[in-house]
Amino acid sequence: MNLIDTHCHLDYEYDGGKGPEQLVKEALDSGVDTLITIGTEPANFDAVREISERFPHVYHTIGVHPHDASKVDASVLADMRPRLAHPKCVAIGEIGLDYYYEHSDRKKQQAECAAQLELAVEAKKPVVIHSRDGEEDLLPLLREYAAKQKGPSLGVIHCFSGTDGFAQACIDLGFFISFSGILTFKNSEPLRELAKTLPLDRILVETDAPFLAPVPLRGKKCEPSMVKHTALKLAEIRGIPFEELVRITRENSMRCFQLN
Ligand SMILES: [Zn+2]
Ligand SMILES: [Zn+2]
Repeated sequence: MNLIDTHCHLDYEYDGGKGPEQLVKEALDSGVDTLITIGTEPANFDAVREISERFPHVYHTIGVHPHDASKVDASVLADMRPRLAHPKCVAIGEIGLDYYYEHSDRKKQQAECAAQLELAVEAKKPVVIHSRDGEEDLLPLLREYAAKQKGPSLGVIHCFSGTDGFAQACIDLGFFISFSGILTFKNSEPLRELAKTLPLDRILVETDAPFLAPVPLRGKKCEPSMVKHTALKLAEIRGIPFEELVRITRENSMRCFQLN
């Protein structure tokens, strides 16, 4: 039984100039057999699609990150529609709100998040949500989306680092919650407390590579093979055997993204 890295960026730069071939091979060698490489802006939609076409167990998503909300217009949304029909395109994302970095205007972020949620409803595809410091504005958008989505899965709040209240509200709506290497960081005790209480059938693991390498590899650039350290920590927190955690998060990932 192998792990699934539900969120990585295989088209970004890695240490030693490693490309997708080597990253995917090293992931396989360390027990990670399925990866989802994430779209972030119109300029990388072709790149993530091509990477997913090269490997049987790599999937991709397309979406415009809140940092790049200014790049969304009607032509971008029109271009996304046919791309969503690709057999390896499993979700719309990452989309959401990021008020911490605030690289784009807040109103523009909200409008573009809402437009892409609408597209997910239309396509009956799940979403990958990025959320930082904008929960009060994001939750109403997610509520509206959840009420309209008729597809089999709402999607996931990725790289969770939000409040307990937001986590519970998203669980109540029907979302999955995904943990990254942040779960292993020294000062993440509140996040570990939260991870202890969430329903086991709603949790996923991811790397968000090349960012956020888990303990004990902090300081390095993160790679998909490192998702094992986050999974080990989650198994320890939940008090269940590692193999059990792998099986559970794998089943959850397959349900979340409708993989088979
Ligand atoms: Zn993100
Ligand atoms: Zn990401």
